[in-house]
Order: sequence, then structure tokens, then C-alpha cells
Amino acid sequence: MFKPKKKLGQCFLIDKNFVNKAVEAANLTKDDVVLEIGLGKGILTEELAKNAKKVYIIEIDKNLEPYANRLKEKYNNIEIIWGDAVKVDLSNLDFNKVVANLPYQISSPITFKLLKKGFDLAVLMYQYEFAKRMVAKEGTKDYGRLSVAVQSRADVEIIAKVPPNAFSPKPKVFSAIVKIKPNKNKYHIENEDFFDNFLRAIFQHRNKSVRRALIDSSKELNYSKNEMKKILEEFSKEHENLMNEKVFKLSVGEIVKLSNELYKFLKR
Ligand code: SAM
Repeated sequence: MFKPKKKLGQCFLIDKNFVNKAVEAANLTKDDVVLEIGLGKGILTEELAKNAKKVYIIEIDKNLEPYANRLKEKYNNIEIIWGDAVKVDLSNLDFNKVVANLPYQISSPITFKLLKKGFDLAVLMYQYEFAKRMVAKEGTKDYGRLSVAVQSRADVEIIAKVPPNAFSPKPKVFSAIVKIKPNKNKYHIENEDFFDNFLRAIFQHRNKSVRRALIDSSKELNYSKNEMKKILEEFSKEHENLMNEKVFKLSVGEIVKLSNELYKFLKR
């Protein structure tokens, strides 16, 4: 008997309705190569194998091998990579879609790793609270660093709220199926590392003005408070309105713009 491990996020889907919802949202064709993170007992894998050309699955727990073998006997388009999805090198995996019921403890690193690698479409299951933060709009309580980091790179949409009894063992919280479509041409980010540091800096003080937040978190951009104060005296002249606005009220586009402008200003 397989004993699920909590620390690996092993809550397996048992409600087929949600498996079907995720697979339908991925709009699979026999040309698609899909990446799945976390095999579990293979309930999702089986539907992916039926509908796609090929399925790569990254799974950390070798105890699940009997489930993998059973599927491999039935389908010849499944390839399992045993390892930690956060560490596995994705550069040689040629997939165009991602469908997964993610182990929640790696939600954030895996999402950004995937966005960096690139794909056409992902349908991923997250904890509901995390999903709400991913899709939140400016001015709302859920809007933060995660919202901007994701939405500046992709269009995101919650397509279903999933109750605990859709899983076994039952998690304590609701989940959500999220559709993620990269939007490469919507925003231009001058420098990804600077942008990520800029987001970390300003969202440490989401209720303060951008100017104040940047001074108080100047370390995130490798400046002392005094240095940042001086820089912003000059920089803010051209961006007064945005710099005086509270961080959580700025839209994704406004934040990308400020980050790009500050990056260019500092390079001058
Ligand atoms: N896809 C299955 C389903 O829907 O029932 C399983 C989903 S379960 C929420 C998450 C799966 O991810 C588990 O099988 C777990 O062992 C695996 N897992 C946990 N951490 C992982 C990691 N770092 N890398 C790869 N797989 C991981």
C-alpha cells in the first residue's frame, strides 16, 4: 500500500471532473508535447497520454514507480524523469504545454522556472489563495509581488475552484485550476534581474509611496538609503505622479515602466 507523504504535497486528484476540466482547458492535440510535474497515481497523466503526442513527467518520489510502470504498459508516449522539478534541467525538454496538479510547496519556484523556459500554454493547479494572488488586480488586497511578477509575463485566469473533497487525502484548503498564457509582447522588461529586485523592494512596503518604498528597501537594489534618496531626487522629477502613488495602486504596466526607466537612469 502506498502511503502519501504530506511534505511532498501528495494529495491525489480523485474527482475526474476536475481532471477533465484541466485537460479540456489545455486544448490538447496530437501535435502537443506536454510536461507534467508530479505523477502521483497517474490520474492526470493517463488523460494527457490519450490526448497528446507525448508526455514528459517529472516526479520526485521513486515509490510511485509501480504506477508509472502500469501506465507505461498501456501508453508508449510517456517518459518519466525521476527527480526534483525545481532542479531538473528543462533546457533539453522540448514541450509546448504544461499541465499539472502541482505540489504546492514548489508553486512559486516552478512557475517562474517554467515562465523563464517558455511554453505556449499551461494549466496548473495551485492552492486557491496562491491563485488569487496570481490573478489579483491593482488596488486589491491580494495584489502584490507575485501578481506583478506573473502578469508582466503571462495572461492568467482562474478557470475553476476545486474543493478539498476532490482529492485524497483531503487537503485543508481549496485549490484552483489556473490557465497561464505567456504574453511576451505585452510588456518589455529591460532587465529581468533588475525588475525582480525592483518588485521585491517596492512590495516590501506596499502601502507606502513608491519613492518611500525604494528608499526604505534600497538594499535590494544595492544602494544605501542616502544614495537612493539622492538618485530619486533627480529621477522623481520626471516621474512625479507614479513615484508619489502607493505601491499597491500601480498597475502592472506602470510598474514595468518605472522599473525600466529607473534601470536606464542608473546606467547613464
Ligand atoms: N498528478 C497527480 C494527481 O493529480 O493526482 C499528483 C499530484 S500531487 C498534488 C503532487 C505530486 O508531485 C506528487 O506525486 C509528489 O510526489 C510530486 N512532487 C512533490 N514534490 C516534487 C518535486 N519537487 N519535483 C517533482 N515532483 C514532486
